[in-house]
Amino acid sequence: MSNLSAQAPLESVPLLIDGRWEQFQTDEAADVYNPSTGAVIARTPLCGPEEATAAVEAAAGAVEAWSQTPVVERAQLMFRFRELLISHFDELVALVTREHGKTLDEAAAEVNRGQELLEFACGIPSLYMGRSLANIAAEVDAETVRHPIGVCVGITPFNFPNMVPLWMFPVAVTCGNTFILKPSEKVPLSAVRLGELMLEAGFPPGVFNIVHGDKRCVDVLLTHPKVAAISFVGSTPIARSIYQTGTRHGKRVQAAGGAKNHMIIMPDADLDLSVKGLAGSAYGCTGQRCMAGSVAVAVGDVADPLLDQLCTHSKSIRVGATDGNPDVEMGPINSPAALQRVHGYVNRAAAQGATLAVDGCRPFDGDGFLVGPSVIDHVRPHMELWTDEIFGPVLSVVRADSLDDALALGTSCSYGNGASIFTRDGYAARQFKHHFNAGMIGINVGVPAPMAWMPFTGWNQSFFGDLHIQGIDSVHFYTRQKVTMTRWFKPTGDTHHDPVWKTR
Ligand code: NAD
Repeated sequence: MSNLSAQAPLESVPLLIDGRWEQFQTDEAADVYNPSTGAVIARTPLCGPEEATAAVEAAAGAVEAWSQTPVVERAQLMFRFRELLISHFDELVALVTREHGKTLDEAAAEVNRGQELLEFACGIPSLYMGRSLANIAAEVDAETVRHPIGVCVGITPFNFPNMVPLWMFPVAVTCGNTFILKPSEKVPLSAVRLGELMLEAGFPPGVFNIVHGDKRCVDVLLTHPKVAAISFVGSTPIARSIYQTGTRHGKRVQAAGGAKNHMIIMPDADLDLSVKGLAGSAYGCTGQRCMAGSVAVAVGDVADPLLDQLCTHSKSIRVGATDGNPDVEMGPINSPAALQRVHGYVNRAAAQGATLAVDGCRPFDGDGFLVGPSVIDHVRPHMELWTDEIFGPVLSVVRADSLDDALALGTSCSYGNGASIFTRDGYAARQFKHHFNAGMIGINVGVPAPMAWMPFTGWNQSFFGDLHIQGIDSVHFYTRQKVTMTRWFKPTGDTHHDPVWKTR
C-alpha cells in the first residue's frame, strides 16, 4: 500500500559513507509512513552489494587512525555528541513520533534512554581499563589491556528508531572501533539525524557510516572479511539467521530477538497497581516493545476481578494520532502490514476457544494505522495467541491454578526476554525471580528493561550470542584483551632461568 501525499515532499534518506552524504537512487525502495496519517513521508533506498562494500571499505580505512586516537579524546567527542543530543532533544522526539507513531511522551522516554547509553559510553576510559599483577612470577609483571576489534556493524529494528542504534555505536566507537549502521528501512530518519549530529560533533570520516537496505545489503556486511563484529536487534528468525551466518564467517555476533513476556499476578497482589503495570507494559508503544508484557497469568481467584479491572482500564485508554498531539495515550501501530497482523490475531481468537473480552479492532477516523487495546481471556498454552509474538496491543490472559503452573508456562515458552510478577509475598517473588525461565525479571515492575549500565540479558530464543548489549558486556563485546608478561634482566649477573615455567 502506498499513500503518497501530493503536498508533502518526501524526506531524503541518504547514505553516510566516509563522512559524505550520498543520495542513492533506486527503484528498490521501502515506504516510510507517518503512522498517524498513513501518508508515505520518505522512501528508503535498498542498497546492494556495491554500497555495502563501500561502507565497509570506508570503515576499514578509518579504523587504524581512530583506534590509535587516545581513548580520552574519543570520549570527549562522545561528550560533544551528547551535548548535541540534548540541544536537539525536542526535534529528535518529534522525529521518532513522526516515523514510528509512538506518543510524544514515549518518544521522549526513548530519546532519554538513548542519551543514557551515551552517558555510559562517555565513561569508557574507566570501563576500558586493563588490570595488572606485579610479580606474578619472580620479577615478572603481568598486565591486560583492551584493544578495539575493528569494523563493527549494527542492524536495528523499527520499534526504537533512536534508542536501539544508540545501544550500539556509542560504545563501539568510543572503544576505538569504526561502525556501520544499517537501520530499519521502516524508520531511517532518526538514524540519519543521529549521523548528522555525529559529523557535527567532529567524528572523523569513516568512523560512523550508514547504509540502508534489506537482506541483500545485510548479507554483504555479514560476510565481508573486513567486518569483525555484528550487533543485531530484531525478530527471532532473523536474529537466528544473522547469528548463524555471522559466526560461520568468523564474526563476533550478538543478536537480540523477539519475545513473549509473561506477567504473573498473584492472588495477594495490589490489584489497582497491578492493572496499571500490566496495561502500561502491554499497551505502551502500542505493544511494539520487545519487553512488552503480552501474557497476563492470573493465579487462582484473582482472575475474575483482574479481568474486570483490566477490561475497564483498557477501554479507557485514549487512542489516536500522535504526531503533534500530546494528549493521546496510545498511538498508531507502525505499518499497514502490522495493523493487518494484529487484526488477524484478534479476529481468530474466538475460533481457537479464547474469549475476546475487549476487541481493539474497531474502526477509527482518519487514515492512520490505529488499533485499540485488546484483552483476550481463556488463552491456553499452544494457542497461537500464546506461542506467537504479535507485537501489537493485545494482552492474552492465561488462568493458572498456582505459582508452579505459572513457572511451568515460562519453562515451555520458547522465548525468554522478560517476565514480571505482581505480589506482596516475598517468598513467591523470590521463587519467581530464581526459577522463571527468562533473562530479565520484574518484581512489581511491568517493563523490567535494564538501563544503560546493566546488560540486556535475554535468554532462549530471545538472544543468540554470549555478550549482551548494554553495560560492561558491551565493552567486552566491542574489545579484545591482550596480556603482556614483562621481565627485565638484571644488568649484570642474571641467571637467565625461566621464572614462569619453573617446577615447584
Ligand atoms: P525485523 O527482524 O523484521 O528487522 C530487524 C532488522 O533486520 C531490520 O534492520 C531489517 O531491515 C533487517 N532484516 C529484515 N529481514 C532481514 C533478512 N532476511 N536478512 C537480513 N536482515 C534483515 O524486526 P522489526 O520488525 O524491525 O522489529 C521488531 C522485532 O524486533 C520484534 O520481534 C521485537 O521483539 C524485536 N526487538 C527485540 C529487542 C531485544 O532487545 N530483544 C529489542 C527491540 C526489538
